[in-house]
Amino acid sequence: MKIAQSKAENLNNWFNEIQEFQLDSYFDSVVLGRAYDYVSKVEIIKSLENTITCQIPGINKYDIEIKMVGNEVIGNCSCPHNQKCKHLAAVILYQMDIKY
Ligand SMILES: [Zn+2]
Repeated sequence: MKIAQSKAENLNNWFNEIQEFQLDSYFDSVVLGRAYDYVSKVEIIKSLENTITCQIPGINKYDIEIKMVGNEVIGNCSCPHNQKCKHLAAVILYQMDIKY
């Protein structure tokens, strides 16, 4: 699902350019609050210029993919929540180098 509109050249640049406060407009505040607990659990599987694939272990291990398609940042997660979930937010925070 679409996370954000972007003018960045590629996904890596988007991670570098976005500011933490912008995440408030991309994610529900409760979801975003929970995401901080997952930042340290993010495992990068594959990182390319416009696609990043990660896993976050838990009771179940979830697969997360974030990619840039045109000027949109798209995220998918294998967890049961059909929404912009805490795992997607955690991967973004991880890539922004925000670790709590
Ligand atoms: Zn998820």
